[in-house]
Amino acid sequence: MENCIFCKISKHEVSSDIVVEDAETIVFNDIHPKAETHLLIVPKKHIHSVSAVTAEDWPIVMNVVKKAAEVAKDKNILGYKLVFNVGRDGGQMIDHLHLHLLAGGKVELP
Ligand code: 5GP
Ligand code: ZN
Repeated sequence: MENCIFCKISKHEVSSDIVVEDAETIVFNDIHPKAETHLLIVPKKHIHSVSAVTAEDWPIVMNVVKKAAEVAKDKNILGYKLVFNVGRDGGQMIDHLHLHLLAGGKVELP
């Protein structure tokens, strides 16, 4: 997808503070953190939103959640919130599916 910031970050065309990545998923720090730890877990494939996931892409979404749990474990984060904003009315501002992981301090919902 042209002009999608998360596609560009996934392809390293735009820099970000990357925590970990593999062939399917990239994890980076949110540019405007709403907690001490605020990570974004993003599939490299452009999927618009949770509301637009096709049957074949549900495993990608499962892997996004799995990656969040793995990163939390690696970072020894014991408690956290996982948030998918869906649609403008749900607070989704970037139209490329992403999962927020928030932990520590005064956590605000993104
Ligand atoms: P949404 O509101 O779509 O669920 O969340 C988008 C998130 O992406 C926001 O928390 C926002 O701070 C973050 N964000 C937007 N643009 C960038 C960017 O260019 N780099 C990074 N690291 N985070 C971004
Ligand atoms: Zn995209």
